[in-house]
Amino acid sequence: MRFPKWRGVEKPFILDAHTHIGASYLTCYFTDRRWTAEDLIREMDRCGVDMACVSGGGLPHEIKMMNERVLEAVTRYPNRLIGFVRLNPKFSDVLDDLDYYIRDRGFRGIKLHPNQDGYCLLKEPVLNLIFERAAKYRVPVLIHSGTEPWTVAGQFADQAEMFPDVTFIMAHSGLRNDKHVLESAKRVENLILETSIGGVTSPRILGKDRVVFGSDWPTTSMRSELQEVFDLWDSGHLSDEEALDILGLSMARILRINPRRVI
Ligand SMILES: [Zn+2]
Repeated sequence: MRFPKWRGVEKPFILDAHTHIGASYLTCYFTDRRWTAEDLIREMDRCGVDMACVSGGGLPHEIKMMNERVLEAVTRYPNRLIGFVRLNPKFSDVLDDLDYYIRDRGFRGIKLHPNQDGYCLLKEPVLNLIFERAAKYRVPVLIHSGTEPWTVAGQFADQAEMFPDVTFIMAHSGLRNDKHVLESAKRVENLILETSIGGVTSPRILGKDRVVFGSDWPTTSMRSELQEVFDLWDSGHLSDEEALDILGLSMARILRINPRRVI
């Protein structure tokens, strides 16, 4: 991958905030292919991505197994992969899984998919318990967005208001079909927009560390999602600082990890 020249540095630090092992929503129904940690690392190397947040994905009965695959993956690639636990609030032991992967196994975030799992982002009672624990463990929650009525921008802002100590990451920034993304994101400070499929929102509108690069690989091409950020950078629509923040530094700060470790 060709990188725009940036003040003599060979390449920027890139952290993909949203990837999957197994499959992702939609790909799990379209194909029986399941992607491995090695597939992910190969794609990251091809695209110059230093680190990735990864959660398991697949059909509902595969999700627990895929969390185990993610655990194996972060154990094998501790400097490249950051585990996010995929939780389904419909499962009776969802809080046990949360404690196990976050408290006992060092995962750094939670992934929720309301419309795949059939609940509404505002109306599922156990979500309160999940968000309370996210605050306690200081981990962000990455949530699919843009699919009415399960997961829309206003619900994100309402939850973010109720749980001010939790960082909510809106995967897909509303998928380009939710008109209320910006007004919702402006209402609260703890709501971050992730760029996959939904595009890159200018951080000038929301402020520093409010927009992060994610690809949702293998749903999309990691390279084309990344290219969108580079094109905006190349054309001057993003400043150097804004581009570097979106590409990885903002997410590193949200996760409290040191990007210099891997450059
Ligand atoms: Zn996803």
